[in-house]
Formats: sequence, C-alpha cells, structure tokens
Amino acid sequence: MPSRAPVVLGTPQSAAAVRVMLLGSGELGKEVLIALQRLGVETIAVDRYAHAPGQQVAHHARTIAMDDPRQLRALIEAERPHIVVPEIEAIATPVLEELEAAGVVRVIPTARAARLTMDREGIRRLAAETLGLPTSPYEFCDSLEELQKAIDGGIGYPCIVKPVVSSSGKGQSKLDGPGDVKKAWNYAMAGGRVNRGRVIVEGFVDFDYEITLLTVRARNARGEIETRFCAPIGHLQVAGDYVESWQPHPMSSRALARAQEVASRVTDDLGGQGVFGVELFVKGDEVWFSEVSPRPHDTGMVTMISQWQSEFELHARAILDLPVNTALKSPGASAVIYGGVEGKALVFESVADALAVADTDLRLFGKPESFVRRRMGVALAFADDVDSARRNAKLAAGKVKPRLA
Ligand code: AMP
Repeated sequence: MPSRAPVVLGTPQSAAAVRVMLLGSGELGKEVLIALQRLGVETIAVDRYAHAPGQQVAHHARTIAMDDPRQLRALIEAERPHIVVPEIEAIATPVLEELEAAGVVRVIPTARAARLTMDREGIRRLAAETLGLPTSPYEFCDSLEELQKAIDGGIGYPCIVKPVVSSSGKGQSKLDGPGDVKKAWNYAMAGGRVNRGRVIVEGFVDFDYEITLLTVRARNARGEIETRFCAPIGHLQVAGDYVESWQPHPMSSRALARAQEVASRVTDDLGGQGVFGVELFVKGDEVWFSEVSPRPHDTGMVTMISQWQSEFELHARAILDLPVNTALKSPGASAVIYGGVEGKALVFESVADALAVADTDLRLFGKPESFVRRRMGVALAFADDVDSARRNAKLAAGKVKPRLA
C-alpha cells in the first residue's frame, strides 16, 4: 500500500486543525478523545445524550440520534471533520458509506467495516461463509418456530440465543433444553437494541478460555499498512458482560499462532487503519472466531496499565498514520465498577481506600446517570504476575462505593 504524504498535525481550533469526530462518547470514546487531544487534534464528541463521558473532554460536544441517517448526515456535513471514528454499533452506516465514497470524510477503519459489524449477521457471515473461519454452528431466525426448527435441525443443546442487534449480553441466554426456547426468544425480543425480531442461535462452544486479541493496522516506517498484535487478553463474562480482564493470558504457541492468523484474516478483509478487538474462543490448540469490534474493546481497558501504549493511544496513532508500539509493559488486570443503584449524579466513596491498594489506578467515567448494571468505572492493577494483578484490581474495585448523593 502506498504511503501517504508525511503526517502534519495542526493546532486545534485553527484553520490548520486536524478534526476528528467520535460517534459514540462513552468510556472507550473518552479515552480515544484524550489520546487525540494529547496530539493536538481538534475533537468533536457525539452521543445520543448530553454530558456523555467523552463530551466532557472534547473541544465540541454534539447530541444527536446517530442511528438517524438525516441527523447524522447533517452533522457531518456541518462539522466537516477530516476523520470520523465510530465508537458504537448503532449508527446509520449507509450514510458513512456514502460520505466516504464521495470523499467527504475518512471513516475508521472503513465505512464497510462499520456496517458489517453493526449487527451480528454481517460479520458472522463474512467470517464463516466468505472467509471460511471456524465459528460455532449458527442459524439466523425470525420467529420462535424458526428458532425451534434450527435447534432441532442441528444446532442442538446447549446453545446460545442472541438478538442480532444488541450489546453487552442484553437479551442473550443459554438454552439447556426444549423448556428454555420460548423464554429465550421472548428475552431476546425484549433485550435487542433495535427490535428487529431476528436472533442468532449458536451452538455452545465448550471452550477452555476466551480471549480478546487486540489487532492493530497501522503504517510502518516504510508507509505500508502492517498488522500488529497485542498480547492476548483473558476475560471473565457474567451474563454476557465483561467483569474482569487481564493481560497477558497464557496460550500455547500453536493456539496463539492460530489466533493471530484468524485475526489477520478478518482484519485484512475489513481493512483500513486502527485497533480491532478480535474475540476468540480457545480449547487446547483449537481456535474459534466469535466477534470483532473495529475499534478498541471494553476488555482492552486493561491496556491502560499493562501496555506502553493503551489500545486508545494505539487507535489514535494508527488513524493519524503514526507509528505504534504494541509491547506489553507489565502483567495487568482490570475490574469493572458497576453503579449498583439507579439514579443521577452519583457520589463515589472510599476512592482513597481503593487507590491505597498497591499498584492500582482507577477510572471513574463521569456518566451522569447510573443503573444497577451500568459500568461506571474500572479499577486497574499491575503486578509481577496476572493472578496478583487480578486480585488487586478486584480488591480496589470492590472498595469503591457508588451511592446516591
Ligand atoms: P457476545 O455478546 O457474543 O460477545 O457473547 C458474550 C459472551 O457469551 C462471550 O464472551 C462468551 O463468554 C459467551 N458466548 C457467546 N457465544 C458463545 C458460544 N457460541 N458458546 C459459548 N459461549 C458463548
């Protein structure tokens, strides 16, 4: 791939500014925005609600329904950013494809990647059917009857039902027998982000462990796009939502080589520049592709303490054509802090106690409203080994006490 002209960064809020728009400004977007700010980039943080975490650290904050094509197009045309960085799935991606094709903006990593990964169907069909990568057996179903037929016709039990459009395990359930089918269907219909009435049913993969392989497509010194990998991140999911992650996760050299090959195949096809979070299941030396985010991944928050350059800094550098370093700094871990209560403007007690735990750090995201299972912060820890880091991250997270003011 030919190199671009040498990178020239500008001064924010001047005519020479490099302007980047984040579509989605939650805790992950906030860290990308901070990384961009440090390089003197002018930032525009967009979210569906006001005072989202990333909007609190950007030059400009805009609040629109990003899944509304009219609103999205109007905003991009008014702001004219050089680069648009999707940070969530629920975006009117056809608008991004049109504006990218017309040369109006650059979309990270590409508008096509944003479209293919906005629901489970595009990316699963690409990985399994086009690229021939190993995945769980699966079917897409539009009714309870179709779901039952797919399970009886080969998927079998146990299996997992997920809405095609959802996040953080919402609407997802494991089915152990015929008695679970109706409940799973109804739950998926209630939990889908956009109620499309469509689910994926996947055969249950009895994996030993699952990892996120952060994969970075960035320019090397010769100006060519090169793929680099971060050390594998292990994670623990509860009800489809990540609660703990750690890096590095030990793997056999064969399993790691397969994981990197699967990640290369998917990210080569999606193309563009930036960080991808490739989710894989591993059993022995066998590897299954599960999902990919064409952007930093929530389990990758651990890299804020375990790598020289966090996944957010890597994303910022990769999209600006700058060199990246994916090296591990220290074994580390992250542990999620949930709101635990419903309400606005929480206070956080015992932060000093949490930070008194050796070699820990904390991010409180600044979300204006809490739900019982809303992620409000994350504790980070480093140590000589992953087990100690996990213990300390959990200890620190447990000490933070969110409560209503
Ligand atoms: P997802 O929302 O697809 O990332 O799924 C959330 C979590 O559910 C994964 O990280 C796995 O722990 C589990 N899971 C999802 N699909 C499967 C599967 N086919 N077999 C076993 N576990 C799964």
